[in-house]
Amino acid sequence: MHQSHMIINGQQVTSLSRKTEIICNPATQEPVAEVAVGDRQDACLALEAAKRAFPVWSATASDERARTLHSAADMVRQQVDGIARLLTLEMGKPLKNARMEVLSSADVLDNYAEEGKRNFGEWISSSHSRSIVLRQPVGVAALITPWNFPVDLLAWKVAPALAAGCTFVAKPPSLAPLAATEFVRAVCEAGLPAGAANVVHGPGSTVGAELVENPISRKIAFTGETETGRWIMSHAAAHIKRLSLELGGQSPFIVCADADIQAAAAAASQRAFSNMGQICISVNRIYVAQEVAEPFTEELVRRAERLKIGDGMRPDVDLGPMFSRAQRERTKEHVADAMGKGADLLTGGEEPDGEAYERGYFYRPTVLNNADHRMRVMREETFGPVAPIMKFGTLDEAIALANDTEYGLAAYVFTNDLKTALRAAEALEAGGVGVNVNNVIDLQAPFGGWKESGLGRELGRWGLEAYLETKHIRLGL
Ligand code: NAD
Repeated sequence: MHQSHMIINGQQVTSLSRKTEIICNPATQEPVAEVAVGDRQDACLALEAAKRAFPVWSATASDERARTLHSAADMVRQQVDGIARLLTLEMGKPLKNARMEVLSSADVLDNYAEEGKRNFGEWISSSHSRSIVLRQPVGVAALITPWNFPVDLLAWKVAPALAAGCTFVAKPPSLAPLAATEFVRAVCEAGLPAGAANVVHGPGSTVGAELVENPISRKIAFTGETETGRWIMSHAAAHIKRLSLELGGQSPFIVCADADIQAAAAAASQRAFSNMGQICISVNRIYVAQEVAEPFTEELVRRAERLKIGDGMRPDVDLGPMFSRAQRERTKEHVADAMGKGADLLTGGEEPDGEAYERGYFYRPTVLNNADHRMRVMREETFGPVAPIMKFGTLDEAIALANDTEYGLAAYVFTNDLKTALRAAEALEAGGVGVNVNNVIDLQAPFGGWKESGLGRELGRWGLEAYLETKHIRLGL
C-alpha cells in the first residue's frame, strides 16, 4: 500500500503524533494508501520551516526561479503516470482525466516560470524626488485546497507563490491528499531550498485553522466551500492577512433561441456531468428559450444516457464514482426535493444497476425538466451530476433568473447573435462568462468569483499579483 508522508523542511516525515489514516477508493471502498495525519504542532513546524526558507528563496533572481519552476514542470511530467494513478484511486475521476489534470499542473508551473520574470517595477519622477515602485513577495503563504481537483487547484497556488518569491505550506484535502503531496514532492525535486515547499496533512479544523491563525503565514490562498471561506476570512482578520478565496458556485447556462442547439447540448452535458458534476464551474441551472426547449432537452438526455460510468481505472469510462457517500446523499436529496416540488425526471436520478457498481458511490447523470427557483438544486451547490432545465421567454427574464443567486463564479450563454452575446455577458453577475464555450478557465486569464463565490483572482498576471506586496521607494533629490 502507498505510504503518504508530509513534507516539512525538505524531509518526508510522519506526524509528531505518528497518527495515520487509511484512504479508500470511492469506486471500490478498498484501501489505497496510509497517510500521516498531522495536527496544529505539525502545521507550526511547517510554517517555521517556510519562514526560515523565505529569505533564501525570495532573494533569488526571477530568472533563477524561472529555471527551477520549468524544471519542476519537467519533474511533474516525468511522474505523471504515478501521480495520476493516485489521483484516480483516491477521488474517483477517470484516469485519462487525472492525467490531463496532472499535465495541466505542469503547464501552470511553466506558465508562472515566465510570468514571474514580468514582475516589473515602475519609475515616477516628481519635482524634488524620484519614486520607484517595487512588487515584493508577501511572505509565507498557506495554500488550502479541496478534493475535486486536488492537483490542479494546488498548482494554481504553488506556481505563482514560488514565482513571486514566496515560500509555502500546503494543506491538501484530508480525504484526497495523495496526488497533491506527490505533486509537491516532484516540485521539490527541482531543487528548491529546504523548507520553501511544505505539505501538512490533517483536518481543516486543526491543521487548516493553524495555517490561517498563526501569524507566520502572511497570505492565505483557499479553494473550497463558501462557508469555510467565510470562517477563514473572519479568522484571517486578526492579522489582516492577504486573502485569495475561490469558493462555491451555482452556474447558470442560458440557451437562446438562435443558438446552435447541438453544440449547446454537447457543452451543457459535458460541463454538467464531467467529474460527476463536482466542479465549481459546473453547469448547475439551464435556462432554455421556449422555442428551442424541446430539441435541446432531447439532445441533452440522449448525451447523458450515452455516458459510460465505471471504475476510473478502466480506460473506457467517461464518469467515475462520486467522491463520497455524503456527496451522493446530497445529490439524491436535491433530486428528491426538486421532484417533490414538481420537476420531471427525464433520465438518471438513481444509482446504476449491476455488480460493478455495488461498492462505489456511483450515480447516473440526471436531467430534470420544469425546474424552478423554489428547488434546492436551483439555489444551492449540488456538486453532483444533475442538470435541471427551466424555460424562459425573454433574454431579460433569463438574465434576471441567472443572477438570482448569492453565487457569482461562472455563467454561460449560447447564442449566434453578437448583440445578444454582449448584452448577456455584460449583465451576468459572474467572475467568468463563457460565450458559446463551457469553460471559463484559461491559464492567461483571471479566474475567480463575484459575490459569495470569492475574493481575488487566480491565474494569469492576476494570480501572480496575489502573492506580491507593493513598495514605494522615494528618492530625495
Ligand atoms: P471544504 O471547504 O470543505 O474544504 C476545502 C479545504 O479547506 C480542505 O483542505 C479542508 O480540510 C480545509 N478546511 C476546512 N475547514 C477549514 C478551516 N476551518 N480552516 C482552514 N481550512 C479548512 O471544501 P471541499 O468540500 O473540499 O470542496 C468542495 C467545495 O470547493 C465546493 O464548494 C466547490 O464549489 C469549491 N470549489 C471552488 C473552486 C473555485 O475555484 N471557486 C474550485 C473547486 C472547488
